[in-house]
Amino acid sequence: MAKSYSSKINRIRTFALSLIFIGFIIMYAGIFFRQSAFLMTLFMLLGLLSIIASTVVYFWIGMLSTKAVQVVCPSCGKPTKMLGRVDMCMYCKEPLTLDQNLEGKEFDEKYNQKKK
Ligand SMILES: [Zn+2]
Repeated sequence: MAKSYSSKINRIRTFALSLIFIGFIIMYAGIFFRQSAFLMTLFMLLGLLSIIASTVVYFWIGMLSTKAVQVVCPSCGKPTKMLGRVDMCMYCKEPLTLDQNLEGKEFDEKYNQKKK
């Protein structure tokens, strides 16, 4: 897993954006298979599916955002949203936590996994 963390909402947003790009690239690749109507349709459909998927992901972000807790970052003073027990400030990547027991501890995504 990548070591560089970023805010969860930002990460999902990046994922949705890359899905759109992948969709367009797949559709563009379909043009090179013009001689085969079947292949071209297949590529176009795959590209379309990818774009639809990104719309779904964007919708999902919207749902998550309503559940996210809005906090004011202690480091940069900007209001940011966080998901789960630990997350990062969207602006300065300051680790944030809602759990007092985890305060001062090193940032670790593992705290988000539900374990007793
Ligand atoms: Zn901040």
